[in-house]
Amino acid sequence: MLWSRTRLISCLICMIFALGLSVAHAQEGYRTTYTVKRGDTLSKIAKKKDCSVRKLKRWNRLRSHRLRVGQKLTIYSLTPVRPMRIVEYRIQRGDSLIKIARKFGVSKRSLRRWNRIRRGRTRLVAGRTLKIHVPGPENPSETHGRPQLGKLVNGEQLKSGPGYRVRNAKKAWGANHVITHLMTCLPKVKKAFRRMHPVVIGDISRQHGGKFPPHRSHQNGLDVDLSYIHKGIRKLKNFKRATRENLDIAKTWFMIDTFLKTDAIEYMFVDYRLQELLYKHARNKGYSKRKLKETFQYPRGRGRTKGIIRHSPSHKNHIHIRFKPSPTPQATIRKRHSARFGSHSS
Ligand SMILES: [Zn+2]
Repeated sequence: MLWSRTRLISCLICMIFALGLSVAHAQEGYRTTYTVKRGDTLSKIAKKKDCSVRKLKRWNRLRSHRLRVGQKLTIYSLTPVRPMRIVEYRIQRGDSLIKIARKFGVSKRSLRRWNRIRRGRTRLVAGRTLKIHVPGPENPSETHGRPQLGKLVNGEQLKSGPGYRVRNAKKAWGANHVITHLMTCLPKVKKAFRRMHPVVIGDISRQHGGKFPPHRSHQNGLDVDLSYIHKGIRKLKNFKRATRENLDIAKTWFMIDTFLKTDAIEYMFVDYRLQELLYKHARNKGYSKRKLKETFQYPRGRGRTKGIIRHSPSHKNHIHIRFKPSPTPQATIRKRHSARFGSHSS
């Protein structure tokens, strides 16, 4: 049966409207669904999910506070929702709970819970293992070789999220831990400064890594190109040359510092002149002399191989982050399903 013209049009309008809605909320967080349980109220759910009742109502177009058990609610969360797997990590000399927690991007509290470590008992014995729940698909990524000659196995694709926009998903494949850090750090920047354009994510790696012209590196899922944050722009389509006038130093520095805190960064390539601006800002923000020295190549000169943040030509319009290889290869992977259903016999 043919659809009447009006019906077709109204259906199209509906679709466009629905599409518009999901796009409108896309910047508020990662989309998740919550199923209403007995005894739930909007304010209870809002508290549990760290959002406001007003937002809950808006996201779900609710007119009243009435809920029914089993009802599905859409919630946008700043914490990415991803499949989890359990890895075993062998404790090394000099490790502490907080160090390990940072390494894997998890909280100290969770580490305690997964391993039944009581509060106050923080001494770790080197050689023993800890169970850690790591986000990422069941088959963990492997980064092979070097950024300039390597490949990526089981890469994970980054999709746009709160505070960032992926320019071309086909070129945004990375190792699990790289994707995790991007997915958790960038929403933090967005949360700190509501008013900013989404950070543009350029190339990471191709699906299986390998040669990726015109880049020399970006071969094994550890390199990420991303935009600076600029002043007075609502939307950024592509990388834009950063200058003394248009660079939003405070926001860009906050983003860089958020990444640095993960302890997962090997290098960041930033134009030397922009380094000066960021260096002075970091100093004003209370970075110690030692910390400045460790972090910046500036003011030692653009040729010096010192500091995490270094100059590299052609980084006036974007930052290039090189992540360290994942800390997980030293860990034995225990897949969730085998833990739940017993291991496969071959
Ligand atoms: Zn690059």
